[in-house]
Amino acid sequence: MEMLTFFLILYGAYVATKLVLAVLQMRFIRAERQKPAQILGQGQWEKAADYAIAKERMGVYAAGVETALFVFWAFWGFGWLDATLAIESAMFKAIVFVNLFLFINYLIELPLSIYERFGIDARFGFNRATPGLFARDQLKTLALVAIFGSLVIAALAWFVGSFASWWLIAFVFLMVVIVLINMLFPTIRALMFDKFVPIDQTEIGQEIGSLMARTGFKASGVFSVDASKRDARLNAYFGGLGRTKRVVLYDTLIEKLSKEELLAVLGHELGHFKHKDILKNMAVMAGMLFAFLALFGNLGEGFFAALGVESSAHILIALFLLLSGPLFFFLMPIFNAISRHNEFAADRFGGDLVSREALKNALIKLVQENVKFPKNHPLYGLFYETHPGVLTRIERLEAERA
Ligand SMILES: [Zn+2]
Repeated sequence: MEMLTFFLILYGAYVATKLVLAVLQMRFIRAERQKPAQILGQGQWEKAADYAIAKERMGVYAAGVETALFVFWAFWGFGWLDATLAIESAMFKAIVFVNLFLFINYLIELPLSIYERFGIDARFGFNRATPGLFARDQLKTLALVAIFGSLVIAALAWFVGSFASWWLIAFVFLMVVIVLINMLFPTIRALMFDKFVPIDQTEIGQEIGSLMARTGFKASGVFSVDASKRDARLNAYFGGLGRTKRVVLYDTLIEKLSKEELLAVLGHELGHFKHKDILKNMAVMAGMLFAFLALFGNLGEGFFAALGVESSAHILIALFLLLSGPLFFFLMPIFNAISRHNEFAADRFGGDLVSREALKNALIKLVQENVKFPKNHPLYGLFYETHPGVLTRIERLEAERA
């Protein structure tokens, strides 16, 4: 089969699957909304259902915009932008071309992001960001992408122009970039977006410290982050790699969970570390990236002719950005099945380390505070659930109790 035909069919299947899943999910939640509430109070149950439906509807609009952009780029946009930019240097052309490609997509999708934040999230009481903060965040992100993105584009353009097997070199290079981003992530967040306050010396910080010592985990500190200035919802994460590794608790989480519940959540996260889930995820990602790059590294001349352009670095990079999403989409069920398996294992670890009861209560509180609808249509779950449904997780925690 012609490669271009393959990509068109792939994209069609991607959009169709997304729409079918959205419709199934909306119908499922509308039906569940009528049933007696679980975990949540009846009012919260209905609110959570309404929120989930509103987000799904917004996802349908987003899929429409995405498809329009795809059609634009594939049938017209690449040729147009290619002809418009009269730049001699292949590297410089790649930088300008790909940045413009990203910026045009960003501008077209911006009204949807604004609607999501200040329309839906605000209506349900989640949004706490002012338009000023939102605008500053957007500008900073754009600046970061433009600066670091351009460096990556320049390197990729050089590989494409200099080596026949550029995709192999690009693979090694991108893996290094991914590791660097993971290492620098907490530092960049601290410098540009968030205020991290060390809580090592507080009572809860001390307890977290001794919990980590017990599991042999080394981090550069425990921090509270002022997430409440953007969003009312709760969360926690381990960020960084190697020496930049740190435990980050949202201020909203510290406020709402009891000490034992917080420790249980931490215990779950430590489970991910004990099981080396982050490394395993990176290995799976590496495999996928390798396969995608091999595909893009072996497109024939005819493919580019059909697009109305010549084979070149800037087209290759933009195509990769345009098509890696749809390619990844069909691998999501595999990726998420692994992730759900890891979540159960981390629950077991955290429950045994701290207390199954506390972890169960923490999971319930997270659903209540985040007004998250606790059920999904099975097919929707197959594609999108990175974590098992909270009802199943609680069931397991109770069943496995010794
Ligand atoms: Zn987890």
